Amino acid sequence: MELVQTSNEAIALEDKYGAHNYHPLPVVLAKGEGVYVWDVEGKKYFDFLSAYSAVNQGHCHPRIVGALKAQAETLTLTSRAFYNDVLGVYEKYMSEYFGFDKILPMNTGAEAVETAIKLCRKWAYEKKGISENEAKIIVCENNFHGRTTTIISFSNDEDARKNFGPYTSGFIKIPYNDIEALKTALSEENVAGFLVEPIQGEAGVFVPDEGYLAEANKICKENNVLFIADEVQTGIARTGELLACNYEEVNPDILILGKAVSGGVYPVSAVLANNPIMEVIKPGQHGSTFGGNPLAAKVAMAALDVVKDEKLAENAKCLGDIFRKRMNAFIETTDLVTKVRGKGLLNAILINDTPESSTAWDICVALKENGLLAKPTHGNIIRFAPPLVMTEDELHECCDIIEKTVRDFVKKG
Ligand SMILES: *Cc1c(COP(=O)(O)O)cnc(C)c1O
Repeated sequence: MELVQTSNEAIALEDKYGAHNYHPLPVVLAKGEGVYVWDVEGKKYFDFLSAYSAVNQGHCHPRIVGALKAQAETLTLTSRAFYNDVLGVYEKYMSEYFGFDKILPMNTGAEAVETAIKLCRKWAYEKKGISENEAKIIVCENNFHGRTTTIISFSNDEDARKNFGPYTSGFIKIPYNDIEALKTALSEENVAGFLVEPIQGEAGVFVPDEGYLAEANKICKENNVLFIADEVQTGIARTGELLACNYEEVNPDILILGKAVSGGVYPVSAVLANNPIMEVIKPGQHGSTFGGNPLAAKVAMAALDVVKDEKLAENAKCLGDIFRKRMNAFIETTDLVTKVRGKGLLNAILINDTPESSTAWDICVALKENGLLAKPTHGNIIRFAPPLVMTEDELHECCDIIEKTVRDFVKKG
């Protein structure tokens, strides 16, 4: 196997041999540890994206990597054609950790969303009594739930959708953070579920009004409609609680997890529900060759032990408050940043320019030069989501970099 010597070489290879389905910032990473990553040339950066919140526990966490190594040398994959000696232990661990009767293990976030949709529909036909093929699931505008054919069918991002039809039907789209719209949709016939992100991450860290989730959950229950929380990005301590739903004491009927379940070490996702819902799935009706493999199970248990033992939720809450306080003070001194919003360590700043402008991208390139990696989302929004193992001193250092970069950017014009 040949290794790349320079960043330019690596970029040229991806450009020539890889599908162009991403537009990465021009930095080539070769190593990671905790809150830091290093590029091919050895330059060190703060990671302020954490692989879209998959690396909450920090890069290459020794406990998680240790679990990976030990299990990799013992047993990696059996398929579900046979039992293995780790899966049951993992299922008990996950069910107790998140407070549900059962888990259905999958690999990626999109797969877990697909699983939740299938589970909800089957429940609707077999438990709620909706006629076959009539079930509808309410979703929100500007959602991001993944990239599969069904999921993009109910996206309103044209890049994600256009020319990938025909689309899967059975979804009702309503504005996010709008209880009245939800009430109206719930009054339609054959509604089976409401699929929602507790904070819309990809949409630009859009935090709904306080009370929205609790009220939405309540009226779903009143209408015998399943409240399905996609916590793939907001879960696992990112927002300062284990789950973002915890802020409003909401227990979803179906919980979807991914990303940081494994600390970014291995693709692990999960769907959790109680018995009356989960028991509608029978042998042969859903599955995945890799879902619930012993390697994934050991990695996930180590990653979730780290979340508790290192008090990552508490740290995210505390550092998030500091971050927004500093950014709010900074905003007073500049016209280029108009707003900071978020919860815990899932935050975004709004750049004072049109979504079509390259300003946010140019600021991210300048941040990179100054040793901090972040990525624009939806044009003029920059998401800031560092690993949750960050210290207060490191966070202040990062705020210094962000403030200096924006100030220099203004000076240059
Ligand atoms: C990232 C994400 C997904 C999709 O996860 P993949 O592992 O990329 O398939 C689904 N929902 C939300 C909220 C996400 O942020």
